[in-house]
Amino acid sequence: MAAIDTAALNPKIIARGKEFFQSIAGEAPSIFNKGWWTGKVMDWAMKNEDFKVQMFRFVDVLPYLTTSESLSRHIEEYFGDKDANIPDVLKWGAGKTGFGGGLVAMVLNKAIRSNIEGMARQFIIGEKASEAVKGIRQLRKDGFAFVIDLLGEAPLNEKECDEYMQGYMEVLAGIQSEYKKWDGLDTGGELDWGHAPKINVAVKPSAFFSQAKAVDVAGSVEGIYRRVEPIYRKIKEMGGFMCIDMEQLKYKEITIELYKRLRSAPEHRDYPHLGIVFQCYLKCTDVDVSEMIGWARKENLPISIRLVKGAYWDSETVLAKQNGWEVPVYTIKAESDMAHERIARMILENHDICHFACASHNIRTISNVIETAKALNVPDSRYEFQVLYGMAEPVRKGLRNVAKRVRLYCPYGDLIPGMAYLVRRLLENTANESFLRQSFAEGAELERLLENPIATRDREVAAKKAPAPAKMGPAGYPAFANHANVDFTVPAARAGMVNALAKVRKDFGKVYPLVIGGKEVKTSEMLDSYNPAKPAEIIGKVCQAGVKETQDALAAAKKAFLEWRNVEPLERAKVLFKAADIMRRDINELSALQVLEVGKQWDQAHADVAEAIDFLEYYGREMIRLGSPRRMGNAPGEVNQYFYQGKGVTAVIGPWNFPLAISAGMAAAAIVCGNAVVYKPSGLSSVIGFGIASIFKEAGLPDGVFNFLPGKGSVMGDVLVEHPDVSVIAFTGSMEVGLRIQEKAAKVQPGQVQCKKVIAEMGGKNAIIIDDDADLDEAITGVLYSAFGFQGQKCSACSRVIVLDPIYERFVSRLAEAAKSIKIGPSEDPANYMGPVVDKAAQQNVLKYIDIAAGEGKVLVKRTDIPADGCYAPLTIVEGINKGHRIAQEEVFGPVLAVMRAKNIDEALDIANSTRFALTGAIYSRSPKHLEKARKEFRVGNLYLNKGSTGAMVERHAFGGFNMSGVGSKSGGPDYLLQFMDPRLVSENTIRRGFAPVEEGDDWVA
Ligand SMILES: Cc1cc2nc3c(=O)[nH]c(=O)nc-3n(C[C@H](O)[C@H](O)[C@H](O)COP(=O)(O)OP(=O)(O)OC[C@H]3O[C@@H](n4cnc5c(N)ncnc54)[C@H](O)[C@@H]3O)c2cc1C
Repeated sequence: MAAIDTAALNPKIIARGKEFFQSIAGEAPSIFNKGWWTGKVMDWAMKNEDFKVQMFRFVDVLPYLTTSESLSRHIEEYFGDKDANIPDVLKWGAGKTGFGGGLVAMVLNKAIRSNIEGMARQFIIGEKASEAVKGIRQLRKDGFAFVIDLLGEAPLNEKECDEYMQGYMEVLAGIQSEYKKWDGLDTGGELDWGHAPKINVAVKPSAFFSQAKAVDVAGSVEGIYRRVEPIYRKIKEMGGFMCIDMEQLKYKEITIELYKRLRSAPEHRDYPHLGIVFQCYLKCTDVDVSEMIGWARKENLPISIRLVKGAYWDSETVLAKQNGWEVPVYTIKAESDMAHERIARMILENHDICHFACASHNIRTISNVIETAKALNVPDSRYEFQVLYGMAEPVRKGLRNVAKRVRLYCPYGDLIPGMAYLVRRLLENTANESFLRQSFAEGAELERLLENPIATRDREVAAKKAPAPAKMGPAGYPAFANHANVDFTVPAARAGMVNALAKVRKDFGKVYPLVIGGKEVKTSEMLDSYNPAKPAEIIGKVCQAGVKETQDALAAAKKAFLEWRNVEPLERAKVLFKAADIMRRDINELSALQVLEVGKQWDQAHADVAEAIDFLEYYGREMIRLGSPRRMGNAPGEVNQYFYQGKGVTAVIGPWNFPLAISAGMAAAAIVCGNAVVYKPSGLSSVIGFGIASIFKEAGLPDGVFNFLPGKGSVMGDVLVEHPDVSVIAFTGSMEVGLRIQEKAAKVQPGQVQCKKVIAEMGGKNAIIIDDDADLDEAITGVLYSAFGFQGQKCSACSRVIVLDPIYERFVSRLAEAAKSIKIGPSEDPANYMGPVVDKAAQQNVLKYIDIAAGEGKVLVKRTDIPADGCYAPLTIVEGINKGHRIAQEEVFGPVLAVMRAKNIDEALDIANSTRFALTGAIYSRSPKHLEKARKEFRVGNLYLNKGSTGAMVERHAFGGFNMSGVGSKSGGPDYLLQFMDPRLVSENTIRRGFAPVEEGDDWVA
C-alpha cells in the first residue's frame, strides 16, 4: 500500500474541490431555487428563525389535516389569522387575492397544501412501489445507481412491522420483474460499473421490531433479524446489495450486532454484498470502525461501510442534555468533518477487506475521499459516492463527471412518514452549519468552504468563549442537578444490573428487624415479602411492630427530636448529601431489589433510586436556603428575624410503588427540617424500607431521628396516627386511607399540644387527551408507557385516554395493536415491557375492575397470554366508556385503560376534569390554541403537553395534585419543606436610651 504524504494531500484536496465547483458553476440545488415555491420558503426560513420553526412544525402536522376546516384553523394558528400576517411566500401560487372571503381562503389553503406536498415529493421517489420502480428506471437512464429505502420509521406494533416488511417485498417484486432488462451502468453487462450489483436496498433496523430497545440487545437483534433476513434472502436471490442504515445511538449496538450476525451466518458468509453505516459525528466511531474492520479480518469476511456524518445531531444532543448524559456527538461541526476525513482514510487503507461508500454532499469531504483514494491507489471498484435523492443536484452532477460512480439514496412511501423525512431534510439544509446552505444559498468563499477542517476547528476553538462557570448552589455546594438517568446503551450499565440482581438474590430470606432509637428490635410476628413474579421466592422476613413497639419508636423519636432540632441546618443537610452519596454508590443493588420486591422494570427501578437521590440533594439545598434567618422590614432600632423550626415527631407512611423515592423523600424532608421520623413502610416493600434505615445510619444520622417501624396498619396504624406526640403525618397511598388519616388526625387526643399537620398524596384518575392532529407515533408511545409502565401502578399513571372523534379509529386501532405487541413477563428480564402487579391482592383487585370495565364498555384488548405463575393481571383496554362509568371514576392501580370518545376539545377537557381527582394529565396536540386552552382549563397538579403523564422529576416537574388527589404542596418543589416546619419571628428592640446601632439594610435617615 502506498504511504500517504499528508502534507501534500491538502492542497490537492483544495484543487480538486475548486475544480469540482468550477464544473458546476452557476448551478444551485432545486431546493434553493428562488424561482420556485420551495426555494422561496427555504430562503425565508433561513432569514427568519420564528417562521422556520412554525413552518417546519406545520409541515410536520400537515398530513393530519384532512378537512378544510382543520387545515384553515392550523394555518391561522401557525401563521396568523389575518391575511397581512401570512408571509407572502406562503401565498405563492394562490393568486393575489386577499384572505377575505371563505372561497379565497380555501384557494389559498389548498395552494399551501399542494405546495408542501410537492416539496415532500421532491425528496421521495414515489409513494407507491410502481412509482418508485419507474423513478429508478429514469435515474439509471441518467447514469445514476440507486439505493432504495422504504419510508416509515417508528412502527409501534408487530403488525406494522409485518406490513413494513411486506412493503420491501413489494418493491423488490416490482424491481424483479424488470431489473434483468437494465444494462449495467457505464460498462453494460450484469453489474453496474463492472463490479456493483444493480439492486441496492437500505433498511432501517428499528422499523422491523416494535419492541427493540437498547437494554435488550440480544432480544432486539433476534426480533429484527426475523424480518430482515427474508428481505436479505430475496435481495441475494436477485444478486443485490443490502445496506443496514444507522439510526439513533440507542440502536447502534443492536445494528452492529445485527450486521455481524447476518454477515457471518453460515448461509450468508459467502455473499459479500452487505453493508453497514457509521456516523462520524459520534465520538466513538473511530473505535467502532476500527473494531469492525478487525472483526472482518478475524472472520475473513469482506465488508462494506457507508460513512456519513449523521442525521440525528439535534436529537442526540437534546436527549443527552435532558438525561444528564455526556453529549455523544461532536459539538463543533468541523470535528465531524475531521472525523469523516480520518475514518474515510482508515477504511480506504483497508480497502482489500472493506468496500467504501462516501455519503456526503460536502465538496471538501468528497474531494478528500477522491484524493485519499488516489494517493492510496485504491481501485475504483472499492469505493463509490452516494447522495440523497432530491438534494444537491449540482453535487451529484459534479460527482458523475468526476467520479462516475454515484448512487442516489431514494426513499419511497407514504406522505405521512414522508413528512417526517422532509422535516429532517429541511432542517439539515437550513442549518447554519450545512455545507449546502453555505455553498449554494449564502455563497461562502471557496477558500473557506474547502478549508482543512482541522484549521476550521482550531479557529473555532480559539474563538470560543470560556465556558460559563458551573452554577453554584447554597453554602458552596454545586447547584442542584437531577441525577443522570441510567443509559442502558452502555454495556457496563446492563452488566451492572445483571450482577446486582445476582448479588441481591444472595440475601433472600433474611430476617429484617425494626430499628428503634438506633437499636435493632426483633419481634416474633413476621411478614414475608415475596417476589410478585415468583411468589414462592421470599425476599425477606420482616419483623412486625405491635402497639408497644410503636409507642417505643415514638418515644425514641420524641427524645431524639429535642437534640436534632438544634443541629444547624447545614449539618442536617450534610447528612442528606452523605445519604445521596451512598445511594449513588449502591444504585444498582437498590434498583435490583425493586425489580425483585415490587416488580419494577430495570429503567423504572433506576429512575426511582435516581429520584430518591434527587430528593436528598434538593431538600438539603432547600434547607440551607431556608435555614438562614430572614430579616423582616428595615426600620432602624429594631431587628426582626423570621426563621423556622421543625414541628416535631413525624410519622412517615410510605407506599410500595415508589418504595425508595417517595419514602426517602418524605423522610428526608422531615429530617432536614429538624424533625424526627417514625417510618412505616408498606408491607409490600419493607425490605427496601429497611435499606433506607441502613442508609441513614451509614450517613451518620443520630440514633432515634429515623426509626424503622414496619407493621400491619390494622394493628399499629391508628396508634401511630392518633398518638398525641405525633405532629406531622406524611402519607402517600390510597384516597381511602388518606382521608381516614385526616379524620383521625383532626381529633385532638388527651395530652396533645399541637394540631397535627397532614401531608397526603392520594392518587388520581389521570387522563391523556388525544387531539385530532396529534402525532400518533408519539401519542401512542406516550399513552402505552403512561398506562402500562410498571403495570399502571403509579399514581401518575394514565387510566383514561380521551380521543377526539376525527382521529378516534386511527388512534384506537394502532393503540390496540401496540398493546397486543407488548412483551409481558418478569421484570427481571429487560426484554419485558410489563411485569406482574405487586401482589395477589392487587391482582384480584385488578381482575375485579376488568370485569366491571367489561360490563360497562367493550373490551378492545385483554392480554390473557401472561405467565400463569406470579401476580400477573391482563393488560386491558376498554372502549365505549363515559364519564358516569365506574371505570372512569375509580382508581384501579393496574394495567387497565379506559378509552373515551369526545366530539371536540371542549368536551375532551370536560371529560378530563370530570373526576374527584386532579393529579396528572397530558395532551397530545399540534394545535397551539388547543395547547393553550389545556394549559388554562385542564385542571390537574401536573399537566404535560405532548408527553406522557408519568416520569416527574424533582424540581423540573415538582409533583403533586389537589382535590381528592392530595393535600399539601408539591414534593420536589420549593414549598415542600415549609410544611414540616413552624415559622417563628423574633423582634428585638435595639434602642438603648435613644441610641440604636446601625444595622445593614436599615432605612436610616439620608
Ligand atoms: C446516501 C446517504 C445515506 C445516508 N444514510 C444515513 C444513515 O444511515 N444514518 C444517518 O444518520 N445519516 C445518514 N445520512 C444522512 C447524513 O448523515 C447527512 O445527510 C449528512 O450528515 C449531511 O452531511 P454532509 O456531509 O452532506 O453535509 P455537511 O453540511 O458537511 O454536514 C452536516 C452534518 O454535520 C454534522 N453537524 C452539524 N452540526 C454539527 C455540530 N455543531 N457539531 C458537530 N457536527 C455537526 C451533522 O451530522 C450534520 O448532518 C445519509 C446521507 C446520504 C447522502
